[in-house]
Amino acid sequence: MTTNQDNKKPQKVLATYALAALIIIFLLNIFVIPGLMERSVVETSYSDFLSALDSRQVKEVEFDTANYTIYYTMEQDGRPMICKTGLMYISDELIDRMTASGAEFASVIPTQQSPLLSLLVGLVLPVILFAGVGVLLSRMMAKSMTGGPGGAMAFGKSNAKIYVKSSTGIKFSDVAGEDEAKELLTEIVDFLHNPQKYREIGASMPKGALLVGPPGTGKTLLAKAVAGEADVPFFSISGSEFVEMFVGMGAAKVRDLFKQANEKAPCIVFIDEIDTIGKKRDGQIGGNDEREQTLNQLLTEMDGFDGSKGVVILAATNRPDSLDPALLRPGRFDRRIPVDLPDLQGREDILKVHAKKIKIADNVDFREIAKAASGASGAELANIVNEAALRAVRQGRRFATQADLEESIEVVIAGYQKKSRVLSEKEKLIVSYHEIGHALVAAMQTSSAPVHKITIIPRTSGALGYTMQVEEGEHFLMSKEELENKIATLTGGRAAEELIFHSITTGASNDIEQATKLARSMITRFGMHEDFDMVAMENVTNQYLGGDSSLACSPETQTRIDEKTVELVRAQHKKALKILQDNLAKLHELAKYLYEHETITGEEFMEILMRKQEVPAHAAAD
Ligand code: ADP
Ligand code: MG
Ligand code: ZN
Repeated sequence: MTTNQDNKKPQKVLATYALAALIIIFLLNIFVIPGLMERSVVETSYSDFLSALDSRQVKEVEFDTANYTIYYTMEQDGRPMICKTGLMYISDELIDRMTASGAEFASVIPTQQSPLLSLLVGLVLPVILFAGVGVLLSRMMAKSMTGGPGGAMAFGKSNAKIYVKSSTGIKFSDVAGEDEAKELLTEIVDFLHNPQKYREIGASMPKGALLVGPPGTGKTLLAKAVAGEADVPFFSISGSEFVEMFVGMGAAKVRDLFKQANEKAPCIVFIDEIDTIGKKRDGQIGGNDEREQTLNQLLTEMDGFDGSKGVVILAATNRPDSLDPALLRPGRFDRRIPVDLPDLQGREDILKVHAKKIKIADNVDFREIAKAASGASGAELANIVNEAALRAVRQGRRFATQADLEESIEVVIAGYQKKSRVLSEKEKLIVSYHEIGHALVAAMQTSSAPVHKITIIPRTSGALGYTMQVEEGEHFLMSKEELENKIATLTGGRAAEELIFHSITTGASNDIEQATKLARSMITRFGMHEDFDMVAMENVTNQYLGGDSSLACSPETQTRIDEKTVELVRAQHKKALKILQDNLAKLHELAKYLYEHETITGEEFMEILMRKQEVPAHAAAD
């Protein structure tokens, strides 16, 4: 019974092919083959034939009485040609004309193919053709079902790219900063080069390492650098490639990838954006079966091979908390390599690495640029350098300067200067006071960072003015007081508007958003409110992608949190108002300067602020 069942499918397939073949043969016989056979015969009119006879061009003639056709040959452009025309009836006169013209009676009708040959062409050939195609197809299908490698068009084949030594051309020296990550990866490269050293002690390499960090910090770059440094083959595949195109192929691809890797060992397998397949299996009905199968296959394969053989798996993600815990247990991705946003030194190094690629003035102070670009990722820094080069070209210079770099920080962070957007005089004045409000509140609270630069040139990002703050040293911990001061600074813009114009504008929406977020976090996450002590009211997910948070408390508590948040912001807003009120003269002076010059640097700002108070005319007038 079982064999019968097994045979049923191929038989059915064969029957389908036979039917298709018959239909096609039928069509061929009707339309194509007769056409082919007659193609070389030219049809002419009867009078053409007669005039050709009279002008002695006709060589041979044959009457096909059965089909009422005359076939004749003549020469055209030196080449013989067979023509045909309708046969009226064979008169004596016609015969006379023919003899007179010197044409011969001969066999002209194009030779019919022998019946055997036409049978061959019409029937046997297509059958052979179809059988051939059928066999090919069924072989391919069988192969793709088992996920086997090879074959002309195997659908399940993994399309991992193989990098061999230095084919990427990227070395560790191209990756600036990230020293811890580089150290850990260097160890892996070293293991692949001389495993003996490690085996002697009895140490075995971790099977997998997971590069974790925010977008643009150089995870993919690091993996490529490993490929460049290692002497071994390097397979690279992106997580999304596992789930593309055909359902059910993801698992086959994983299997195939590991099979290839095992054959090529020692080698490195790199799975980029692993979160696309490695998401937590949630067991929901209607979950993504395809993804789960792929993940299961990956887990099985990672257990299946023996670590001492020298297959090291690297993966990168910016959503480590969404990964399935099974992936992270020892024996799989047991090593986590954090790839964080670069610190001041790191930023300077990254800028230098990328500056080598462009023509740049010798006197550029990269430290200054790195300071101003606090919080930028490696990708953003690379972009800043490129923008600087573009700006230099735009202005017809042959190399980039410090000013180009400074401008491009603002471009990358705040968007291009918008030349066409012209603020009305009144708006310009409001924006000036708003920005100075921020800066003044910041400067007056001792522990707030001084400003680097303020501009009121509108940006394409929509910001009308822009205050760039510089952190003098690196900050990792923030005290409650510093956070409160920051909120006060954020409210400073609006406070200045209230104080001077006695009306408020929409310009503070971004400030409000940030202030609220900060105040909320102080209460719900940092335990900085006496009412809630050290209880977390919020859980943060996706810490590398902006940090969404979800509330984890009762609705009553939520209401109280909301109230406390408002209280906190209000207190800081009051503080900002008071600071500005106390320094009204300076506020006027600074805002006037900004209004007139449109930009003010940190030094100019401090200079005006520290200047001996003269009796300001407009303050008195107020
Ligand atoms: P991701 O972490 O999102 O994978 P990438 O590795 O793709 O980020 O980095 C994008 C680009 O940013 C790189 O091609 C490189 O030009 C630049 N970059 C990021 N980090 C660094 C770094 N540490 N050193 C030099 N360039 C970097
Ligand atoms: Mg990447
Ligand atoms: Zn503002």
